[in-house]
Amino acid sequence: MAGLLGFLGRGPERHAPDAARGDKGPFLEGLMQDVPLSIPDILDHAACFHGAREMVTRTLEGPIHRTTYADLHLRARKCAQALKRLGVKPGERIATLAWNTYRHFEAWYGIIGTGAVCHTINPRLFEDQIVYISNHAENPYIFTDTTFVPILEKIADRLDSAKAFIVLADRAHMPKSKLKNLICYEDMIAAEDGRFNWVRMPETAAAGLCYTSGTTGNPKGVLYSHRSNILMYLASGVGDGISLHSSDTILAVVPMFHANSWGLVYSAPSNGAKLVLPGMKLDGPSVYELLETEKVTFTAAVPTVWLMLLQHLEANNLKLSTLKRVVIGGSAVPRRILEAFEDNYGVEVIHAWGMTETSPIGTLCVLKAGQTDLPRAEQVKIKLKQGRPIFPVQLKIVDDEGKALPHDGKAFGRLMIKGPFIAKAYFKGEGGDPLDADGYFDTGDVATIDGEGFIQITDRAKDVIKSGGEWISSIEIENIAVGHPKVAEAAVIGLYHPKWDERPLLIIVPKAGESVTREEILAYLEGKIAKWWMPDDVVFIEEMPHTATGKIQKTALREMFKDHVLPTAK
Ligand code: AMP
Repeated sequence: MAGLLGFLGRGPERHAPDAARGDKGPFLEGLMQDVPLSIPDILDHAACFHGAREMVTRTLEGPIHRTTYADLHLRARKCAQALKRLGVKPGERIATLAWNTYRHFEAWYGIIGTGAVCHTINPRLFEDQIVYISNHAENPYIFTDTTFVPILEKIADRLDSAKAFIVLADRAHMPKSKLKNLICYEDMIAAEDGRFNWVRMPETAAAGLCYTSGTTGNPKGVLYSHRSNILMYLASGVGDGISLHSSDTILAVVPMFHANSWGLVYSAPSNGAKLVLPGMKLDGPSVYELLETEKVTFTAAVPTVWLMLLQHLEANNLKLSTLKRVVIGGSAVPRRILEAFEDNYGVEVIHAWGMTETSPIGTLCVLKAGQTDLPRAEQVKIKLKQGRPIFPVQLKIVDDEGKALPHDGKAFGRLMIKGPFIAKAYFKGEGGDPLDADGYFDTGDVATIDGEGFIQITDRAKDVIKSGGEWISSIEIENIAVGHPKVAEAAVIGLYHPKWDERPLLIIVPKAGESVTREEILAYLEGKIAKWWMPDDVVFIEEMPHTATGKIQKTALREMFKDHVLPTAK
């Protein structure tokens, strides 16, 4: 079957090399306008056609703030005007260290509207990483929330390029700080009239910069263009995708510093959807309150956020009265989250896969014709996969020699990706050339692709457990283990084994107030995974280490358990 599909043009072999596509010879030029794709146009459109539509923010100071796209448009232009007055030049990287709020949104469009690059820094990174990133990007100005001023105070004398810090606050909430060059954002824009024409840039000009969290080596900068960001949100916005409507109310839980909040910072205003921004409060009760009071219909975030929400719903016997759809990505969606949302609360889950380097959405999991008639258990199996590539993304899986593997749902290999919003290099050439000979980017993920084109991520390449020459998927075991009613989080790492090279160790964080035994966990896994995938040992810890983007930090776990000897290895 897989061979036949390949022959019919569905397999990876359908793609002719690029040289054969980009005809150099004479051709008939199309007669359509050469209007460059430009991010500030999104806000112009929102102000003109959805001017009264609301943006709601839970401010860091506490109260809920309400504004409209028309007002945001004016204030973003005032911000651009002020930046120009400060001497900001096209192409300069202006940093933001901020939660999702209306002021961060204005600064985002203001920065890009001067022709500069909006460089979001993840405030959860270690101080040394923030110093490295800011110096590497040569940030002359850093927008910051009041909450991050203490971090900046500690590192300011190591920030080589920073001329001033623009605090996203009004005069009354300006922090007392020993930082010398603080600018109050509200004062800064109050001095402008907003009569400002966006600085027009070619569509291939850089517009955004986001560094990968980099578990090994220094973080690397992914430099988005106007074109790549717009194409990503359009491509992911189709019917079998995020599919937003002007009638939607979106809660953007996914941070703007996490790869463009998965495009919501563009798709919400361009569709005229109401946008709700949660500020710094991402705990279950706070997210629930916004979902209900603002009548949210659509939201997106990583699984850890949804675990907190679901725990709150279950503990308090609550319902979700308006939410219809939730996009979940960043790590694999555990079955428990999928089933709770869909079966208990009537909310459709769309599983997404992507990475900073893919702008970030590469695949979305929406059932195809025919699959919607399958029995529920079959549908759940498909929905736990990461989904299909969104056009025009191209995907293939390859073996260690770079040979394409079949789309049979069984063969797993390195996932390679290509397309107009996929990185071709890192900022300042760090890390060398990341593309293969055919122009595909190596994601570092290991995946299968089934006959319908659905990918399933089995691991990061470096986390795969190699047992006796075969691969064991840590993600699959984790997702099953986390379904145990007494388990809060689960992680699997490979440990040395004299006979099999590596064998799995299962690390469990029990739910608060629960105690669970090794035997209970192993009995729960029995029959749900292949016998030879069964962990050789189960250990319990109080807290799971996470990366700055909310993923389980396997490097920390490997360090923690480097001296652990598996009972089977003794
Ligand atoms: P980041 O660049 O920080 O967003 O991390 C990207 C990585 O997160 C990917 O290469 C995957 O390893 C992982 N990832 C993202 N989405 C998923 C998903 N739905 N399932 C499994 N892993 C995911």
